[in-house]
Amino acid sequence: MYMQLEMDFETPVMRPGSLAKGVPDLKVCRTCKEEKPLSAFHKDRCRKDGLRFECKSCRSKTCKKYRQKNPNVYKKWYQKNRNTFLETCKAWKKANPEKTTSYRASRRARKKQAQPAWLTKEHINQIRDKYKNSKRMKKLTGILHHVDHIVPLSGENVCGLHVPWNLQVIPAKHNLKKNNRFDDWNLNDG
Ligand SMILES: [Zn+2]
Repeated sequence: MYMQLEMDFETPVMRPGSLAKGVPDLKVCRTCKEEKPLSAFHKDRCRKDGLRFECKSCRSKTCKKYRQKNPNVYKKWYQKNRNTFLETCKAWKKANPEKTTSYRASRRARKKQAQPAWLTKEHINQIRDKYKNSKRMKKLTGILHHVDHIVPLSGENVCGLHVPWNLQVIPAKHNLKKNNRFDDWNLNDG
């Protein structure tokens, strides 16, 4: 979705790949030469304006062409760097345990369609905090704690959501004993 601009013949022609002059929210793609909103460009920390010189759709076309021309490059790269790559991942997971757990839980919840798409960034952070707290509780008490869905995600009659207000930190034993206790709820009886 691109903004429609009125024609302005006085603004000097912009150098492709640079930010549009006087229109700070637009940038000219060096490849297709079109003015596009900044969100149409990938981030690139190496560049002055922090964005790539070509837009996302041109970029993906370039990549596709490159991959077609050099089908084995990625395979070779992966084979060569596999161990470094896996080790970097492992190290990151070790350094960010609660992020890893929260990420996995989110992915599971998404699969079950229990994490609504309308969750805000703040909600996601709140969810992450629950997982952080469960790690903290284990450290404090020495007892393993889980993040529990108050209303289970896969009850027989009621399906809970993966949202901050349906999450509680409880000792792991309780969680395992709980056994989807909302299953017997009859919605009609309230
Ligand atoms: Zn482009």
